[in-house]
Amino acid sequence: MQASETTKYANRSFQPIIDKCEGCDRIVDEGSVKYCRTYKDPEAKWHLGLCNFATHAKPELNLVKVRVNPLKASKRASRRK
Ligand code: SF4
Repeated sequence: MQASETTKYANRSFQPIIDKCEGCDRIVDEGSVKYCRTYKDPEAKWHLGLCNFATHAKPELNLVKVRVNPLKASKRASRRK
């Protein structure tokens, strides 16, 4: 006999997803309860900020412009040849 997905997640003590998870591709919808297929405890995943496996939310990248000395860059490039 094969256990249903709901039983599968519930038996492994998976916690339902939280509001912040809405929209994530890793959500599995089992009846009226939604679980995360990757984490047992989605709330804990968001506790310290963004969930790093969220497919719908990405951390903002702060691009820092690095000043490059053209002379050194040219030397580095010629060394690689
Ligand atoms: S991967 Fe992260 S954001 Fe997505 S459902 Fe799981 S805990 Fe939520």
